[in-house]
Amino acid sequence: MFFEDEIWNRMMILLGEVTLFVALFLILISIVMAILIGTSIRSGRLFFPALLRPFLVLMEGFVKSICTLIGIEPGELLRFLIRLDNRMNTQSFAAIPPNERAVFLPQCLRSAQCPAHLTPEGLRCVGCGRCELGAGIPRMKALGYHVFIIPGSTFIKRMVQKYHPKAIIGVGCLMEVKEGLEMCNRIGLVAMGVVTAKDGCVETLVDWHDLFDVVTIGIDPALIPDNPDVSANQCS
Ligand code: SF4
Repeated sequence: MFFEDEIWNRMMILLGEVTLFVALFLILISIVMAILIGTSIRSGRLFFPALLRPFLVLMEGFVKSICTLIGIEPGELLRFLIRLDNRMNTQSFAAIPPNERAVFLPQCLRSAQCPAHLTPEGLRCVGCGRCELGAGIPRMKALGYHVFIIPGSTFIKRMVQKYHPKAIIGVGCLMEVKEGLEMCNRIGLVAMGVVTAKDGCVETLVDWHDLFDVVTIGIDPALIPDNPDVSANQCS
């Protein structure tokens, strides 16, 4: 009986030590990751993205807390996480032909006087020239993309179920893009995110050069129209 108690006590002590060691290891590695994130944000470069991403999937909440403690703004961190996802998905995205890709644009990009009607596949742009979508969408369609102007994320799921794109580009505010990328990672859909240049619910803006930088990934440059400066084509 004495020996059994002794063995039991030793096992409990060992378990406690292992738990403490694992907890300390996770805290230490989270601090290292947070420093790595901070350095990446400040320098504009991505350090060890292949290491950061899986770790962040497991420990995102904790790393976020440490990032806050070391002075990284939540918005900066979100932008970083989106950049990280984009970097990790770029190779797979490039390998998928444009006719198997889809672009989802938020309806807030259109003009407040937009005459487009809502259809089961989102808003149908009539190219009235009141906003930049009228010039941008045909350029993307010319490359082979399916393009949707959507009033909410439920449309993404519906259109993905209907058209089965192998890759998508989601445009939206920071939080929308972050959540969209997470959803795509969960369902195994290759996704790239582009954050709008101006937030809000009405007449937001996207940097079309940023968007076309993503749209044209993996496409033969000979097939890409000249500089896609859609704002130059906009009628007011
Ligand atoms: S160009 Fe803009 S405002 Fe005009 S129909 Fe298309 S989305 Fe609406």
